[in-house]
Amino acid sequence: MPETSELSAAAGHRFDTVLIANRGEIAVRIQRACRELGLKTVAICSEADREAPYGSTADSLLCIGPSSAAKSYLNQDAILLAASLAGAGAIHPGYGFLSENAAFASAAEKAGLVFIGPTASSIAIMGDKISAKRAMMAAGVPCVPGPDTALPDDPATIERIALEIGYPVIIKAAGGGGGRGMRVVPKADVLHEAIALTREEARKAFGSPSLYMEKFLEHPRHIEIQVICDDHGNAVWLGHRDCSMQRRHQKVVEEAPAAGIVPDIIQPVGMACVQACLQIGYRGVGTFEFLYEDGAFYFIEMNTRLQVEHPVTEMTSGVDIVQAQIRAAQGHVLDLAQGDVTCDGHSFECRINAEDPETFLPSAGVVTHLALPTGRGIRVDTHIHAGYKVSPYYDSLIAKLIVHAPTRAEAMARMREALAGTEVEGISTNIPFLRALFEDGAFAQGETDIHYLEQWLKLRRAA
Ligand code: ADP
Repeated sequence: MPETSELSAAAGHRFDTVLIANRGEIAVRIQRACRELGLKTVAICSEADREAPYGSTADSLLCIGPSSAAKSYLNQDAILLAASLAGAGAIHPGYGFLSENAAFASAAEKAGLVFIGPTASSIAIMGDKISAKRAMMAAGVPCVPGPDTALPDDPATIERIALEIGYPVIIKAAGGGGGRGMRVVPKADVLHEAIALTREEARKAFGSPSLYMEKFLEHPRHIEIQVICDDHGNAVWLGHRDCSMQRRHQKVVEEAPAAGIVPDIIQPVGMACVQACLQIGYRGVGTFEFLYEDGAFYFIEMNTRLQVEHPVTEMTSGVDIVQAQIRAAQGHVLDLAQGDVTCDGHSFECRINAEDPETFLPSAGVVTHLALPTGRGIRVDTHIHAGYKVSPYYDSLIAKLIVHAPTRAEAMARMREALAGTEVEGISTNIPFLRALFEDGAFAQGETDIHYLEQWLKLRRAA
């Protein structure tokens, strides 16, 4: 017999139609999970996406506004109206757009819809980096040295905090995101100027001047932990990923598991993440992001949504993360215990972007020819086809190439093969750059830090 709490939660969260408040590859991915769970899907599109194939594979499609994201995919009222018109019982926000918007999660729930994600209050706690850090410290998650409070105005107190932490320090906006609102301070004489500039930026970009300070780590790796939780006090972590291959703080290649991280060192961190989830009453999927340097982990932020790189964990854990997320939102008890979680083999993901491989400027236009790789251990998540028009309005991600093999070296070889078999013509893509990266010796060795890719690019340009 299911527990009473399961019955009531399941009854309260019941839905059979999901509106997917997103576009592109993630809209396709979520539709697939919904169909496999026997759920109907409602797609939304902007005018620029009217002909997009993800619209025709959904059970219904509603155009919600003009091409600009601000007037369509970010238009909360239009999306809620579409959900009501289409008879949807739930909203899946995907990633980006409104996925970490606490006001939207709350408005959806007020409109009687299930928001497929955590509660608005969990999103709000984690959306403010200072309150997130405080919650993590309280749960025993290791954090970057520095206070879990906002910087005061008094210059002398600020100077004292920086000295206590030790230079170099980094000034970060509490409401920052997307790699913006941060400034490294190498030494004391530029401290106040850096604070003034970051405060102004934070006020303009994030609507809050609140800043905090922490130690700047000079050669860390970016390692993250995937969690999944239900509404009944169950939470597990599904292993770790390395997302250190970044350009301008944007991830380019991700892998699972992170190379060279032994179970003894990651186990307590994973369990602390689970503890933090239980402590804040977290529901659904989430990612704890850490910097990892000299054998120690330092929490930097939690993403309260599905992530672009979730497939590498799906490949190694065997768990369908999107289905698990939807089932958690339906009020089901997690059907996975920590002891059931395994990590099989190694997986890489390459983000294929419509951009110039040298300048990285976005490249819009019509895809005149498309060939995608197939075969054992190869997965492609995409929304494009030959004849597809890549719009200049949105993110340049056009496909994710994912491979899985027994070892890291075999997975790298499989990715080389998969990249060799990927042809996109009519627009520029970063495929040539990815092919070169997968030939790189240091990357093949593993354990490169977050600065490696930028340095590698610099050297290539100079050569
Ligand atoms: P955002 O929410 O904008 O993505 P994060 O806090 O996740 O901001 O940081 C983004 C990136 O900035 C990290 O992946 C890392 O490269 C760098 N970074 C952030 N904090 C630090 C730190 N304390 N030391 C060194 N690098 C940092």
